[in-house]
Amino acid sequence: MIWNLGSINADNFYFVSHLPGAGETIAALEFRQGLGGKGANMSVAAARAGTRVMHIGALGADGGWALERLLEYGVETAHITLMEGVTGHANIAIDAEGENNIVLFPGTNHQITEEMIGAALSEASSGDWLLMQNETNGQVLAAQTAKTLGLRLAYAAAPFRADAVKAIISQIDLLVLNEVEAAQLRAATGRELRQLPVDDIVVTLGAGGCEWVSNKTHQIKTYSAYKVDPVDTTGAGDTFTGYLVAGLDRGMTMPQAIDLALRAGALMVTRHGTADVIPDLKEIRDHRFG
Ligand code: ADP
Repeated sequence: MIWNLGSINADNFYFVSHLPGAGETIAALEFRQGLGGKGANMSVAAARAGTRVMHIGALGADGGWALERLLEYGVETAHITLMEGVTGHANIAIDAEGENNIVLFPGTNHQITEEMIGAALSEASSGDWLLMQNETNGQVLAAQTAKTLGLRLAYAAAPFRADAVKAIISQIDLLVLNEVEAAQLRAATGRELRQLPVDDIVVTLGAGGCEWVSNKTHQIKTYSAYKVDPVDTTGAGDTFTGYLVAGLDRGMTMPQAIDLALRAGALMVTRHGTADVIPDLKEIRDHRFG
């Protein structure tokens, strides 16, 4: 089972003729609200991969719809707290050319309490996974608690912050990064990935697939991406990570879980949207990749 301490955001998409400049007010031509946030995306991906996932997080009074959607997608929500405050959200303006600008407000994603983390993880069992990203508070306590209880820790270092990853690096079993984050981590630590105290590191390389650095066997392996025609790469990394951890939780070997994650990530980039369109296991199995 996966316990995911993660962000939940409303993605508010405003379709505009052009991006507003300083001091300018424009009317949007269309509005859509989607479920997003790296945490929610990963929970949905893991649930769609067929594993049990309990999301640990927080929503404001305006976030009931997000809770319902997570439930609908198969995510367990008993440890999502509805509290005072505003649900995290991203206001995304998109112009006719697809260029965007984004204002992000973490809201209740940064109001997670020690009690909430403790109460959730007290129900976890040794061998379960704790998954985290960097869009909530509470990661240091959660990592320590997880290790005391014998959980395995998976961490996606996104959005990258050197102090956040350094604070928990010796506790991480599986670290997932994209190419930019991997370069930032090398710069922040002054070390190569193969010199870090983490058993498994997976670097996603977009259309280039991914690289697996195994610090147990001292091997680095690269895997090609499945070929698709991408239309929207939003959420590809989150889908990849959710599927990867779900595969491992279901007892797959790392190469098997990586293959599943590569298929999920490839199918995801053929779709517009975030959590709402993450493919399920059957869609991935039925898809004929070129
Ligand atoms: P992020 O979204 O975090 O920057 P990446 O862009 O590296 O992450 O994408 C994550 C994964 O999604 C890749 O490892 C790959 O499996 C898949 N993916 C992303 N872009 C493509 C693409 N153009 N074609 C096929 N797979 C892709």
